This record gives sequence, structure tokens and C-alpha cells, in this order.
Amino acid sequence: MAERAGWAAIAARRIEGLERRFLASGASVVVIDARATLAEGLAAARQLSDAVQANGAALLFLVGRREASAVAAAFEAGATHYLAMPFAEGEFAQALRFAQRHAERLAGGHRAAAGRARLVESEAMVWRWSPEKPAKLALSPALAQASGFAEEQTELPRNVAQRLLGRGGMRAALHAVARLRQEGGVSPFAHNALDGRRVAHHVMWEEGTIVGHVEPLDATRASDAAPRDPLTGLDDGYGARRWIEGRIAQGQAPILIVLGLSRFDMVNAAFGRPVGDAIIRSVARRIERLAVGSGARRRLVARLAGAEFAVGLPQPATIEEAEMLAGELVAAIARPFVAGEHVVNLTARVGIASAGGSDAGELLRHASLALADAREQEPARVRVFELGQESRRAEDRRLELDLRLALDEDRIEILWQPQVAVASAEIIGVEALARWNHPVLGELGAEALFAAAERSDYLVELSRHVQAKAIKAAAAWDGELAGLHVAVNVTAADIAEPGFAERMLAMAAQAGLIDRLTVEITESGLMEDLGSAAELLAQLRSGGLRVAIDDFGTGYSSLAYLKALPLDTIKIDRRLTQDIAGSARDRIVVRGVIDMARSLGLAVVAEGVETEEQLHLLAAEGCTYYQGFLCSPPVDVRAMETLLNRSS
Ligand code: C2E
Ligand code: CA
Ligand code: CA
Repeated sequence: MAERAGWAAIAARRIEGLERRFLASGASVVVIDARATLAEGLAAARQLSDAVQANGAALLFLVGRREASAVAAAFEAGATHYLAMPFAEGEFAQALRFAQRHAERLAGGHRAAAGRARLVESEAMVWRWSPEKPAKLALSPALAQASGFAEEQTELPRNVAQRLLGRGGMRAALHAVARLRQEGGVSPFAHNALDGRRVAHHVMWEEGTIVGHVEPLDATRASDAAPRDPLTGLDDGYGARRWIEGRIAQGQAPILIVLGLSRFDMVNAAFGRPVGDAIIRSVARRIERLAVGSGARRRLVARLAGAEFAVGLPQPATIEEAEMLAGELVAAIARPFVAGEHVVNLTARVGIASAGGSDAGELLRHASLALADAREQEPARVRVFELGQESRRAEDRRLELDLRLALDEDRIEILWQPQVAVASAEIIGVEALARWNHPVLGELGAEALFAAAERSDYLVELSRHVQAKAIKAAAAWDGELAGLHVAVNVTAADIAEPGFAERMLAMAAQAGLIDRLTVEITESGLMEDLGSAAELLAQLRSGGLRVAIDDFGTGYSSLAYLKALPLDTIKIDRRLTQDIAGSARDRIVVRGVIDMARSLGLAVVAEGVETEEQLHLLAAEGCTYYQGFLCSPPVDVRAMETLLNRSS
């Protein structure tokens, strides 16, 4: 739907590395589809919220209809927008546009959006009204405060609410409620607040209560004093952007340090919000003390998001200076914090970037990317953004988008590589290998293809696509082709999918390939959970398929655990095969593998056989089958037929 609405969409199915992938994508809107899995969706939102906020993006959260209470949780987790089921395609497109406008306002440094982001961070503004107690309106503390009441005054008599809404607002509210009673779903209305700001309410049912989520639309307040983060008194994200843009405009591109506290959400969860807030304030003071400087060297110190801070170094400044400061900041934050009776230990990571780029948004994103790198790569605490890091990413991103299309348009092709019996030189089978004929880049090998799929989370989809296509193609073969064994590759991610074995067996059965189909999987894919892998392989085998272990002799290679797995074939990795013509020691390793495989009653296929000499030595060690350029590279089905005619 997003694509049809003109967006370039990048999918992410796993939560790992979400933050860096979001940053690398340069996306301005994140959509989290939590319609089926709320808890996971919230976890994803939490993981992204700081990066989304620090980079002035928007986060649209999709919730199921009966989870209206989830909306509050989503805002709490960092969502800036939401859409509840059921919704039409047009509404989704509209929600994306709203989200984009929010991001644009932030990028333009618009005060209103910055204010909004802060509200979202602290707490959702929500009211509740129960038809059973019609005279009372309950407010969330944030809404009470924003409406000018004490935070703890959360119950209002209805007539006070009426005054707050104004006459027009009250009418709109009653209409919205009437619409809600008739149509369900979410019913919005807007009005002018007492201070003249425009405010939207999104009204919905929740367990017999009518609930409104309040969203200030454009907070063009009269007094627009220096933007401050209310919790710490530092500059906020808007102020940071403005500071950076000011320097860039003077031709004095600054260096930016972004500092993130690791796992700060744990502190809030463990000690409660007030303790968390107190610690954030202490962190701010420590950063300020070290970083702020004076006079012309006065630096920017800002709080960008919940647990992210920025320090901007004006010119003249060097990366070395920034790195030194970053090291000091990390050390300062590593000292314990005391809040009330709690002692809390924190770690900080730092990303650094210099403004080679064009605007504040880009500088922030680069520094955030470096921070994401520092977070992922223990033990690095400080990372500097490197140019080129991103241009490569842009190319990768292009590939990921193209792959999506290629899958839709069925443009991934399959080539077949013969598997040959050593003794008779007869072709007994083929391995299906994927190829992508890219409209611009030409034919791409499987490595590039699968790397792009992995990055963009299409791995399972691609893998399935290729398997289905290969099996279908082989089912239609006749003549000599019809006698061949067919091997397809599966990944660790494939076998982790529920129902993988059933699906594979059903496909094989439908294609009439049950007794000719082999599934190849690499050992690293099996190592992670040997027990369930063994079960799965057993299921495939009892269904009549064969199982081969691929790339054997690389990675973890443990001869012992092979015994625990129900296998038919071992495929000796190309590197090992090619070693056989090397030293005597190399040969002993290959011999050991072949001996052991045979003692377990397994067939052995040597991969990557390129020369007669290799073949000869392998044959002497008792290897029964081979694959490799010596016979043929992977080829299309026509060429395969020619090869068969020649070999028979
Ligand atoms: P693999 O399963 O080990 O496939 C064998 C690779 O070795 C193929 O590379 C093949 O072209 C190459 N090769 C074959 N003979 C020789 C030789 O004599 N010398 C040399 N230097 N190379 C040889 P390819 O097609 O680029 O595939 C690379 C890897 O990508 C495969 O390794 C496999 O892990 C993965 N892959 C390829 N197609 C698929 C697929 O459809 N599904 C999945 N899940 N993975 C695939
Ligand atoms: Ca393979
Ligand atoms: Ca292999």
C-alpha cells in the first residue's frame, strides 16, 4: 500500500539492528505494524524512539481495533502517529502523509513539531468519559497539566470540560461521539483551545468507556523563547538543529557528538520514572560541565531525545578533539549515579560526525549512524562516521528496493549445476542456484543477491521463491532431465519458519519429486539449535527427502555433532576441496572428513572441483560425487540438456 501511495518502502521483519537499519535507510517515516503482535510492535517502537526523535522522523503505529488501549502504550513507547483497524487504503496513505508532514516540520526546525515530540515522550494526553458517570471527565496527568490543572487533578466536572472545549469544540465533540456510536473505529474532531492553539482529539471506544487521545496540531505560541528541554534545561532537538544550521550558514560546519545512554529504559523500568528523570538531569550536568566551554569556543549541549544527548563543536575543531572529549564523556558517565537511595551504573556510547554534508539533518543522521555502530560493536565506545560508509549504503539500499520488484515480477532465475559420479563420470543430479539479472548491474551472483535479501529482510521470501520455482521447473522436466536428482538450498532462517518441513514436503509431493529431492543446508545454520534442527531434518527424511550438509569443513565443523544429525550427504566445501592438491597435512584433513562420512554411511560430494588433479586425488580418498567447473559451472536448462547428451 505504501508503494502504491508513491513511497519507497523498505521492509524489516526482525527487531535486531532495527535502529541502525532505520538510520541507514534515511527514511523519514517509520511504520510499525503491530496489528497482530502488539508486544513486539511496542518493543520495536521503544528501540527506535530515540533515533526517530533525534533525527526528526515520524513513527506511525498500526494497532488492531480491539486494542485501543494500545494507543496510549504506543505513544508512551515513542510513536508519533497511529492508525487503528479497520482502515481503508486511502486512510493509510493519508496517515503516511500526516507522518511525513510531521517529519518535514521537524526537519525545518518547526517549533510546533518539536513541542509535539516532547509531549509524546513524556506522556500521552488522554481523556476518558464513561456514559455511566456522565458528569465526570477523567484526564491523564499530562493532559491535566497541559490544560492548566495540577497534575494530580485528574477528574473534572463536565461543565469545566465544556468550558475548555468552547462551544464549537463541544459541538464537534458531541458529533464525534455520535459518529463513534454509529460507526465504531476512531472518530476525530478538532477545536481551538483557550490559548488559541488548534487541538485534535481522536475518539474511540475502550471497554465501555469513550477515550480521547489529544494531539496539538500547530502550536504557534506567541512566546517562542529559546527552546529548552524542560527536564534538563539544555537545548532541545529543535535548538540543536537551529544551532547547527546557524554554523553551517556561516560556512563554519561544526563537528557533532551524539551520546546515547545504553539501555536506559531498564533504569526507568527498574527504579521508576522519577529516578530515571533525576538521573537524566545528573547526566546532563556531567556532560555540560565537561563540554560546554566558553567564549568563542562555547559548544552546543543539547538533549535530543529520551536518553540521547548532543555536543556540537564549533570551528575550529578537529575530529581528534571530538574523540578526546567523547572519551572523557564516556568516562564521566561510567561513574555511578546516586538518585535517592539508589546507585545506578550506566554506560554511554558515542557517535561523531563532521558536517561534510549539506544540512543539520544529515549531520545528525551521520552521527546517529556512528552511534548505532558503536552500540553494536562491543567494545567500541566511540565511533566516527566515515564518508563512503553511506554512499555504499545508498547503493545497497537501491539493490534492496530493486529486489522487492524483482521478486514481485518473478525476475530471479535459476541455474543448474551438475553433480557427477566420480567413478562413471555420469551426471546424476543438479543443484539449483539463484541468479538475478539486474536491469542495470547485469547478472548478479547468489552472494550479492542473498546479501541484499538479508539486509532487507526478504531472505525467507527469496529463499522460498527460489525453492518453489526450482521444484516447479524440475517437475516439468522430461527425457533425461527427468531422471536427475535435484538439490535446493535452504537457509537457517528458512528452517526456523514454522511449518517449513510440511511446506517443503507438500511441494515435493505435488511436483512428484519426493524421491529425487535433496535439501542442502549449511552447518552453521544447524548449529544454533541442534535439537530442533535434528527433529526437523528427521521429519524431512521420514517424508522421503534427502538431507545434505553444505559447506562442510568451514566454520564450526565438528565431526562429533554430525552423528547427532540425521543426514544423507556431506558436501565438502570448495576451500577444502582445493586444499587437496596442497600440503600433505591438508590432505589428511580431507581424508579424515571423507573417512568419517563413509563410516557414518553418508554420501560425499566434493564442491568446487576445478582440475583433473583435484578430482584424481579426491577419487583416491574415496570421494563418490563431485560438483565444479571441471564438469560445468551452473547453466540454464538448455545447456544442461546438452551436457546430459554429451555425458551419456
Ligand atoms: P553453495 O550452495 O555452496 O553453492 C556452490 C557455489 O559454488 C555456487 O556459487 C557455484 O557457482 C560455486 N561453484 C561451483 N563450482 C565451482 C568451482 O569449481 N569453482 C568455484 N570457484 N566456484 C564454484 P553461487 O551460485 O554464487 O552461490 C553461492 C552461495 O549462495 C551458495 O553456495 C548458496 O549458499 C547460496 N545460494 C545460491 N542459490 C541459492 C538458493 O537458491 N537458495 C539459497 N538459500 N541459497 C542459495
Ligand atoms: Ca549448496
Ligand atoms: Ca557449498
